[in-house]
Amino acid sequence: MSQQILLLPGDGIGPEITTEAEKVLNAAIERFDLDITTDTALVGGAAYDATGEPLPEETLAKAKAADAILFGAIGGPKWDTIERSKRPERGLLKLRSSLGLFANLRPAILFPQLASASSLKPEIVSGLDILIVRELTGGIYFGEPRGLREENGERVGFNTMVYSESEIRRIAKVAFELAQTRGKKLCSVDKANVLEVTELWKEVVNDVAKDYPEVEVSHMYVDNAAMQLVRAPKQFDVVVTGNLFGDILSDEAAMLTGSIGMLPSASLDVNRKGLYEPCHGSAPDIAGQNLANPLAAILSLAMLMRYSFERADVAQAIEDAVESVLEQGLRTGDIYTEGTTKVGCDAMGDAVVKALLAK
Ligand code: NAD
Repeated sequence: MSQQILLLPGDGIGPEITTEAEKVLNAAIERFDLDITTDTALVGGAAYDATGEPLPEETLAKAKAADAILFGAIGGPKWDTIERSKRPERGLLKLRSSLGLFANLRPAILFPQLASASSLKPEIVSGLDILIVRELTGGIYFGEPRGLREENGERVGFNTMVYSESEIRRIAKVAFELAQTRGKKLCSVDKANVLEVTELWKEVVNDVAKDYPEVEVSHMYVDNAAMQLVRAPKQFDVVVTGNLFGDILSDEAAMLTGSIGMLPSASLDVNRKGLYEPCHGSAPDIAGQNLANPLAAILSLAMLMRYSFERADVAQAIEDAVESVLEQGLRTGDIYTEGTTKVGCDAMGDAVVKALLAK
């Protein structure tokens, strides 16, 4: 039976980059003789304009039926003032929660050709390849009780950081399995010296580790991890952590690579069905001008092949094609440096297709 990918282009540069990713998908289908079909649906501001909802029922039904989702980007100034529950980002949040996407995978990979784009010295970051695994549906962002109250004549704000053993166990399992397919090193980040919830986190990670004897496990406090990421980032292979710490560390790690237009991500459910999207937003400042870098979207497609469709060979071929166009000196405006060739979004996509089919 053929596998189904749902394309959700969204807003701003979303449709432009998704078009390029779809071209690369079609080239991969041709080269590897894949049995994959695609469908497209509305999400975000585009969906709100058409239906009054940022995640229409029809889109959610298609997302549930698909084997994987390739998401562009959502949002823009046009929808910043509408009722909060109808805003584009609500569409994405609802999609993540409705599909039970609890494992967020954020690679920070620095292609050697772009080493000068990082704010760190090239020798510290060149060849960087880290994978941050962040728990996405629990922790302090969702814990109860939460709110604001009056206490002794002043306002008090409060949130609850809570993780159950089963929540920790399932994210740890994902991280160990990924570490097993990579450098076989897993660093679990916590604040176990201060927070009981992360004391439990550490204990459960150590317990899960018994099932993965070939993976070397280490533990690091979050403050040290933030420091080590800028001091010696190449010491990490896979990092696993909770929602709050992961939110911050994954952005920090991503920025080591220097360009937001290059960063893919995945959010997976228990069956490895996933939503794949670039880390960047809808970039309204450059939308519709053929200026967007489509490589984050194309690399998200590579992740989809690797994690949801278990086609590491197809993923690797797409990543090699991206590296090959960078080697040819092609750059969109965001990664352009003197001596390279500036190209538009569509020409970048076409170059990746050509490189993929040339092999
Ligand atoms: P942004 O990521 O859209 O843009 C930040 C800067 O990076 C801009 O200068 C933009 O031009 C540039 N940029 C981003 N992606 C690029 C690409 N592929 N190629 C070249 N340049 C690129 O972040 P923002 O400006 O804070 O947000 C814009 C809108 O996107 C907002 O409405 C925000 O809510 C939304 N947003 C959506 C998502 C998502 O869809 N998951 C994520 C973040 C922000």
